[in-house]
Amino acid sequence: MRLGVRAALADGALVEGDVEIQGERIGRLAAGPPGAAGIAVPGFVDLQVNGFAGVDFLAADAEGYRRAGDALAATGVTAFLPTFVSSPLEAYGPAIAAVAGLADRVGRPRALGVHLEGPFLSPRWAGAHDPAQLREPEPELARRLCGAGPVRMMTLAPELPGAIEVIEALTASGVVASCGHSHADAGAAHAAFDRGARAITHVHNAHRRWRPRDPGLAGVALARPDVVVQAIVDGVHLAPETAYVAFLAARGRFCLVTDAMEATGLGPGEYRLGTSRVRVADGTARLEDGTLAASLLTMDRAVRNLTEMGASLADAVDAAARVPAALVGRPELGVLREGGTADVAVLDDELQVARTIVGGVEAFARG
Ligand code: ZN
Repeated sequence: MRLGVRAALADGALVEGDVEIQGERIGRLAAGPPGAAGIAVPGFVDLQVNGFAGVDFLAADAEGYRRAGDALAATGVTAFLPTFVSSPLEAYGPAIAAVAGLADRVGRPRALGVHLEGPFLSPRWAGAHDPAQLREPEPELARRLCGAGPVRMMTLAPELPGAIEVIEALTASGVVASCGHSHADAGAAHAAFDRGARAITHVHNAHRRWRPRDPGLAGVALARPDVVVQAIVDGVHLAPETAYVAFLAARGRFCLVTDAMEATGLGPGEYRLGTSRVRVADGTARLEDGTLAASLLTMDRAVRNLTEMGASLADAVDAAARVPAALVGRPELGVLREGGTADVAVLDDELQVARTIVGGVEAFARG
């Protein structure tokens, strides 16, 4: 089939003409005269999704993942990591096992595995995590959690005793270690990245502040060319200037995440985030004490936000697709190439999602 698009964004360049899909693959780019349906871009890959559209992933069954998946597809997402905040140990096994049963369902966004955000986080920077669920890093517990199913990423605080051993164990088993919810100074941050950690989780949120002579985790992550910088570009977690400077520093390794939750896509009210209760009002999600708790952001909105700050569409899509896919070891996703996987979002002139295709199958079409 042909998508009827005007052009495709392929490897950062706009290729004029229609796009042909053959089965699960991209057949040809520039396959025919330009159509009227907008621009085809690689489907978005979101590495931090706690829940979506009324579904909290920690408690979700296959039906919940189906509903959340359909809603994610409407935002251009074709692959994601269900993300679990720090939780009672007995909650992890069933939640991780539920994701194992979802592998590559036809016509729905791919659950690439689990992002465990915690439980080895700093109590000083718990954010919305329940302090009672935080633990000191233990390599054996990390192995047990990762053995429960397809864990792809773990966020941890690298300065905690035992954290470096956990980073090494994760790295040896192919799980991405990402630093966050942390009081690490620059030395501790460098040590973590030198020993295998590859990313920072939601830069500038929930970690030691960057100061002139104390750059901390953010300063080190932004300065090092080997670190992926994940950011919540919703205008709430980061001021636009803060987000744009982080993008400029980390262009090509800047990674948009939503940190979306059960309430995303719904209205004001009371919602769950793991074991915490969250109140949504005035466009933000907060704990009772006012602490920001996850976000209401969607990936298409994040792409628009970044372009409105001055990033090119190619750079914003790179941050929403190629960078996250490559970080979790799926470089065949997040790019549009002839012969490559047909995970595609079609964006209109306002960069709204008109259509989403996963593995050559339509997952969303705007009515
Ligand atoms: Zn967090």
